[in-house]
Amino acid sequence: MWWLLALIASVSLLTFILLFGRAPAFKNSIIGSAYVFLAVSLPSSLYKLDLLLCKGAITNHLQASFNYLLYDRNWAVVIIYAAIVLFEEYLFFSCIFPTLPGLLQLLSIIIAPLSFVALFFACTADPGVITPQNVQRAITLNPYDRLLFMPSECSSCKILKPARSKHCSICKCCISKVDHHCPWINACIGQNNQRFFILFCLANVLLTFTGLILSAHAVLDAYRDYIDSVDPPLPSIWNPYTFKILLREGYIESGHFIVFWTSLLMLPLALAFSFQQLLFIAMGYTLNEHSKWQAIKAGLADGNLDQYVDVNGTPYGMGPNGSGSIALQWLGNSYNRTLTPEEDQMIQSHDLHITKVTSWKQLNNMYDKGVIGNFKEVFFGPFL
Ligand SMILES: [Zn+2]
Ligand SMILES: [Zn+2]
Repeated sequence: MWWLLALIASVSLLTFILLFGRAPAFKNSIIGSAYVFLAVSLPSSLYKLDLLLCKGAITNHLQASFNYLLYDRNWAVVIIYAAIVLFEEYLFFSCIFPTLPGLLQLLSIIIAPLSFVALFFACTADPGVITPQNVQRAITLNPYDRLLFMPSECSSCKILKPARSKHCSICKCCISKVDHHCPWINACIGQNNQRFFILFCLANVLLTFTGLILSAHAVLDAYRDYIDSVDPPLPSIWNPYTFKILLREGYIESGHFIVFWTSLLMLPLALAFSFQQLLFIAMGYTLNEHSKWQAIKAGLADGNLDQYVDVNGTPYGMGPNGSGSIALQWLGNSYNRTLTPEEDQMIQSHDLHITKVTSWKQLNNMYDKGVIGNFKEVFFGPFL
C-alpha cells in the first residue's frame, strides 16, 4: 500500500502548489518556481511537442474535454464528488464507526447524509429561471440601481433583463439574482437555490471536519493501545519511532488514514467556498456583482465616475424611497450613455445635480440590506 500513500501525498502537494503557488508569499520560493513549472513551462513545452507530433490534436482534445467538464451542463463533476464522498463514508463506517462511543456513532449517522441531501436540493431546485411569465415579478424583486444595472433586453432570451440577473450560456437562460454557474451542482446559483448551495458547503465543512477529527482520533487510539502493550511501554505517543511504528503496524495503510487524507484535502475547499459565500452575502453583493463593483472601483480611481445627488449631497436613485444612484461614466468628451426619460423626470422633480464621485463611501449599494437583512433574503426570500 506504499503506492497509495505516495499517490495521496503527491496529489496533496500538487493541489497545494496549483491552488496557492502563485500567491505573492511564495514568489521566489521553491513552491512559486514549482507553480511556474507546472502551470506555465510544462504545458507550453507539451503543447510545442503536441504541435510537432500531432499538429496540436491532443491539446485541442484536452481543451474540449476540460471545457465540457467545466463549461457545459453535465453531471461529471457531481458524480466525481459523490463517488469520493461515498468512498470516504464507506471507509469511515467500516473502519472508524465501530470503534466510536454511542453518542459519536449517532452524530456520524446524522452528519453522513447531510451533504447529499443539500446537494440534491441545490441540484434540483429552480435557481430562478426568468421566463416571460415571471419577468415582471423578477424586476419588482430586483429593481434597477442605475449604477450596476440598467434596463436592457437579453439578446438570447429576448426578454427584459431584470437587475442582478445574467444570461448563463451553459444553462441557456437568464437567472434571477445570479451568483455564478457552479459545476459542483451542475446548475446556476441564483435567487431561489443559493440557500441550498450554502447548506451544501457548510455540510461539507461539517463532514470533512468530523472525518478529520475522528480518523485522527481513531489512529491515535489504536496507536496508544499499541505503545501500552509493548514492554517496556514507550514514554509518550510522540517519540522518534512514532512514524516508523505507525507504518510498520499498518496504521498508515488503513482506511483511517485514507479518511484522514481525503478529509484534509477537502476541508480547505469546503471552508473556502463557505467563507466566500457568507462574506459576500454579509457585504450585500453576489459573485456576479463583485466583478461589476471592481469595474466601478477602477472607474472611481480614474476619476471618471459621476452621479446625481440631492441638495444635501446624498445620492438619489430610482429604487424604493430614492435608493440606488443615477451614475454615469465620463469618457473624456461625453458620458457613456444618455439619461432615460424616467431618469430625466426624476432629476427635474427632485432638483438633483451631477457631481464627481471621489470616495467609495459616496456610492449607494441599494441591494445591501444590512448583514441580517441580506441573510434573511437569501434564506427566507422573497423568491422568484
Ligand atoms: Zn437570457
Ligand atoms: Zn448556469
